[in-house]
Formats: sequence, structure tokens, C-alpha cells
Amino acid sequence: MTKTPEEQLREMKKTSEGWEDFEKVLKKVQIPCEVLPLSKEKPIILNSGTVLDDLFGGGLSAGQTVELYGEFASGKTQILFTMIVEAASKGLVIIVDAEDTFSRKRIVQIATARGKDIDVINSNILLYKPDRWEQQVSIPPNLPDPLPGKLKLVVIDSLMALFRSTPEFAGRSNLGKRQELIRWHLRQFKKIAKKEGAIIVYTNQVYDDPVSNPFLPKWACQHPVGGHSVAHIGDYRIFLRKARGNVRIARLVDNSEIPPAERVFQINERGIDDLSNEQREEAIKKEEKYEKQQEAGEFVKKRKKKEEELTPIEEGE
Ligand code: ATP
Ligand code: MG
Repeated sequence: MTKTPEEQLREMKKTSEGWEDFEKVLKKVQIPCEVLPLSKEKPIILNSGTVLDDLFGGGLSAGQTVELYGEFASGKTQILFTMIVEAASKGLVIIVDAEDTFSRKRIVQIATARGKDIDVINSNILLYKPDRWEQQVSIPPNLPDPLPGKLKLVVIDSLMALFRSTPEFAGRSNLGKRQELIRWHLRQFKKIAKKEGAIIVYTNQVYDDPVSNPFLPKWACQHPVGGHSVAHIGDYRIFLRKARGNVRIARLVDNSEIPPAERVFQINERGIDDLSNEQREEAIKKEEKYEKQQEAGEFVKKRKKKEEELTPIEEGE
């Protein structure tokens, strides 16, 4: 069987033989190249119907990738549920539930509150529940071909959970292997999403910076896991943090078209939802007050006082 130019290049690199033909082989490689009219805007195919859409320039277009990261209960899964309801009302949704948190009850609640047809949504969901990383990475190659509908959305909740909890990947020496697999896994989904004109949204966990400044708010010390490999994959990187009660703040951290911005939203029976102007102003005021207290070291002072009360110094010491 004759080898493709790519295969020939790979073999030359492996064996260090045949370099005299390098340029000849290079010229045979076919590179995908698109010439788009610069003025042509990509149509929006998915939005949440909330202020969060501002962070996506109004909504998401085919082939785009979104990362949602934040600590527990910061609203990652609730945003996914809302997007699932919106997308499954129009087409097929593939769900990779690696944290075992998918809730049909909650999907029905959100769909009902948003006036969507539950039967349509039910018939449009392909739910995968991997419990090991091997199962997770094998999902894209094992998808039904052809897919049983027009794919609109792929969600992964969360991307890293099964990789983080696997002893094989513990330690620095195994990090490279893990990162390569994650990149490969997402590339497989990206290929499918691009071909089908679908969107990918995945969640990511955070770690607390061990040398964090105690005068900074807690959220300022939270960083997404997965390192540079994950950081470079998404088109939109959104950081979620908790405010008071059911209020959450979404911050667009990185996008090549839209500058950093924040939007305040709430979690309720509609999944995610807007706040009234009054509610939003009150939530922002409370957050500002909390951050000022933090910067002034009031929480550090309170903590120290508590510690002193707990461990009274013995007389004579
Ligand atoms: P984790 O990392 O643990 O998966 P997460 O960021 O995915 O966290 P979510 O499941 O999106 O967290 O959000 C959980 C929050 O959503 C909880 O604070 C919960 O009280 C709130 N919540 C869930 N359902 C409702 C509802 N119907 N109305 C109001 N708040 C709700
Ligand atoms: Mg979750």
C-alpha cells in the first residue's frame, strides 16, 4: 500500500532516513484552507436567553468551544443543564457525565419553566456515563455513525475529573502522558463538532493557589486544573464564582474577540436566569463590601482572634 505524504514524513522523522526528499514530500501534503469573506458573521445557533450570552457576543456559533471553570456549586452544571434544554429542543445533544451529576428531574424542571417540549428533549439526548478515563476517551470514536440526529451540542462534565482521580497519572513524570491524552480526546470531539456544526461546552475544576495572599478574596486564588494544554483549547474561558445565596458571577477570562467582562446571574427553576436591576445592584454592592473587608484584612483579624480564643496561652509561658 502506498503511504500518504503525512505517513512518509512521520517515517522520515522516526528513522532519520530519506531527508533528501523532504521538500518533495512536503509539497504533496494537502492542507485544508478556507477563504472566508471577512464581513460574513457566523450565525448564532445556541444561547441561554440570559445576560450570560453577552460574554459570547450574543450567543454561540457552530464549531465553538467553551470552558466553564469554578469551585463546587459555582454553577457550572446548572449552565450546562440550561444549554442542554435549549440545544436538545432543536437537535441532538451528546452528554459526557463523568461526575455522575446529570439529573433528568432538573432537566424536566428547567424545560417546563422555559416552555420546552420534554418529549423532544428526551428523544434528542445521548447520555454517556464513563467511570474511568479509558471509557471517556473512547466515546468519540464509538459514537453511532451516522449520528441519530443533527448534532447541536456536546457537553463534558467535567473534562478532568476521571484523569485527576486516576493513580496512573499521579506524579510529574506521568503528566505529559495525561496532557497528551486530554488534548487528543478534545481534538476528537472538536473534529466531530466541526464536521456537524455543533458546539462543545466542558466544565473544569479548580485548585487553590497554595501561596495565595490572605488579603485577596478567596476566588482570586482559584485556578483551573489541566495546565496549559487545557488553557489553549477553548474559544471562551469562563470563570464562575459564588456570590450570596443563589447568585453567581461569570467572568469571561479569555477570548480572541471579546475583552474580559463579568455578568451576574442567578440559579433558579429556569436553570440560569437574569436578576432584576435591583437584585443585581444589591448583589454587586454585597460583593464589593465583601472584597473591601477582605482587602482590609478584616477576615484575617477575625480568624486570628478566633484562634487565640481556641488556644489560650498558659500562664508562665
Ligand atoms: P461541582 O463542581 O460540585 O459539580 P457545580 O459548579 O457544577 O459544582 P452546580 O451543580 O452547577 O455546581 O450548582 C449547584 C448550585 O445550584 C447549588 O448551590 C444549588 O443550591 C443550586 N441549585 C440547584 N438547583 C437549584 C434550583 N432549582 N433553584 C435554585 N438553586 C439551585
Ligand atoms: Mg457540577
